[in-house]
Amino acid sequence: MRETILTGSELREDREIEKSLRPLSFSDFVGQEKLKNNLRVFVQSAKMRNDSLDHTILHGPPGLGKTTLANIIANELGVDIKSTSGPVLEKAADLAGLLTNLKEKDVIFIDEIHRLSPVIEEYLYPAMEDYKIDIMLSSGPSANSVQLQLPRFTLIGATTRAGNLTSPLRARFGVTCRLNYYHPDDLFKIIKRSSDVLGIKIDDDAAMEMALRSRGTPRIAIRLLRRVRDFAFVRNLGGVDKETTVTGLNSLDIDQMGLDDMDRAIIVTMIEKFGGGPVGIKNIAVSVGEESDTIEEVYEPYLIQEGFIQRTQRGRIVTETGYRHYGKEYKKDAGLF
Ligand code: ADP
Repeated sequence: MRETILTGSELREDREIEKSLRPLSFSDFVGQEKLKNNLRVFVQSAKMRNDSLDHTILHGPPGLGKTTLANIIANELGVDIKSTSGPVLEKAADLAGLLTNLKEKDVIFIDEIHRLSPVIEEYLYPAMEDYKIDIMLSSGPSANSVQLQLPRFTLIGATTRAGNLTSPLRARFGVTCRLNYYHPDDLFKIIKRSSDVLGIKIDDDAAMEMALRSRGTPRIAIRLLRRVRDFAFVRNLGGVDKETTVTGLNSLDIDQMGLDDMDRAIIVTMIEKFGGGPVGIKNIAVSVGEESDTIEEVYEPYLIQEGFIQRTQRGRIVTETGYRHYGKEYKKDAGLF
């Protein structure tokens, strides 16, 4: 579902509920087995060496568990975590304030790290590499500064756009982890676990239906669970069954593949206005009234993974699967010219 259709207070409520649902240990974190096992080893090794964990980058589409993992890592290391995000850090002093408050081996988590300003990014390099920062004591041509030694800390950066990180920044991370979309069986477990925590009774076939329509994304799975719970609630049902789930999701315009009205707008516009492509992201964005960044970060990765659209050098094209899904006639040469 689109975040943009939610109001500010709904988003805040979502965040609060997400927080209460966050697993606190690797064993409660469902799926992503390979990545989890690797991280377990790195954490254990750091603890055995009595050293800080190497700086770590977590990347993947929104809602897949990057923030959750950063918190789990700190928890498993037995250290404190301080969280911020790229766009929030406007001045070097903001970052200096956070870094100088860290204790030995603590974690600092920077969400949307690809959106750090170049000035802040440069300020971060010596902190990451030598655990040193310069603090300016005055400004102007004869400015004074002192160098401060920081404790050995771990920076965990999260990004939806690994490709947008500058190479000097990327080079300073020792560990790189990519999160992938979840299998429906994993989303099923997440929905069951979340319904337990939220006190919602849900049938297994209803949970599976939700899992199949969650775009491989835990955040969406949790949101669908809460919306369908509302449908069950007003129908005065004691729990969520499959019939209510199907009716509820259809009313929310979420189809069997988990695609919503924005996915539909993207694909149908590409077919009807641009002959199935190739078409550039900016043209798609203007036509559907959405930011091109949002389309690239939120919608497109799933549509590509599921084979509805393809990215080519000349732009995006709709595949035969994309045409069929929306009942459009596929012409063999569509997208080639
Ligand atoms: P991101 O930082 O990648 O946008 P979050 O870490 O905020 O995603 O996760 C969104 C929600 O999904 C949180 O409520 C979290 O508890 C839940 N979640 C994400 N991944 C998992 C997982 N593997 N197991 C259980 N819950 C998860």
